[in-house]
Amino acid sequence: MTDKTCNCLADFNEKLREHNTEIEVTIGFPRDGSPSFVRPRIATSKIESRKRGRPVIAVPTYCPFCGIQYEGYGQQGGVS
Ligand SMILES: [Zn+2]
Repeated sequence: MTDKTCNCLADFNEKLREHNTEIEVTIGFPRDGSPSFVRPRIATSKIESRKRGRPVIAVPTYCPFCGIQYEGYGQQGGVS
């Protein structure tokens, strides 16, 4: 199950497909049981590369294309 706030991701991927391109996404499965979500991926990286562990993800609160607020998880701006 994914939330369907807007279709920008699908619409853009449709346009990008002819250029052999697609938008990278973050797929989230919240631990609190709320529905999984697909959001455009915000690239994150470690500040100190020698520290162990992977960088956390940053989940956008608003659609970067149309500006609508995503429903459900991430409404307060999520970091997980
Ligand atoms: Zn949108």
